[in-house]
Amino acid sequence: MKSLIAKIKLFFVKKDNDKFSQNQFSKIDKYILDLENEDPEIREYAVFNLSNNSEAIKKLINIYSNYFSDPWHSSLAGRVIGKKIQKDSDNLIGPSTVSMIYGIDASVIICSCQFCGFPNKGILAPPNGRNVAYYSQDNDKGAYSIPVLCDKCGNKFYVAWDQDPF
Ligand SMILES: [Zn+2]
Repeated sequence: MKSLIAKIKLFFVKKDNDKFSQNQFSKIDKYILDLENEDPEIREYAVFNLSNNSEAIKKLINIYSNYFSDPWHSSLAGRVIGKKIQKDSDNLIGPSTVSMIYGIDASVIICSCQFCGFPNKGILAPPNGRNVAYYSQDNDKGAYSIPVLCDKCGNKFYVAWDQDPF
């Protein structure tokens, strides 16, 4: 199966050939691609723009819901939503709040990067994720884990739970 990113790139090649390349939806797709740009400022700018666009949020919720077929892009999409919910707070957010605002069954947690120690906020996690002990590691082994792109060093680490976080 082609990854989502490959699909979006194909979409862009097509869009560049017609005169509607500047519409809102191609901008949303560009910012979604930018979520994994190597430049942290470009990533942050993409999060900002996507957070403030209701069509973008709908699309991100849709990508997030495909966790089991594409954990990486689901996690990147979920992070935008998680950051929007958590804002500048250091509080973990429970599933009732997330469900009420976005209609998805998730919590929002903070986890320190396995590589640089930076506390990464706004991670969208399984509904009981904040109540079950979790830690960061550099691989996806364990009972349950989700990939996270570190806001600071840009490495991929995994939040892992040994017990069921659902
Ligand atoms: Zn890091």
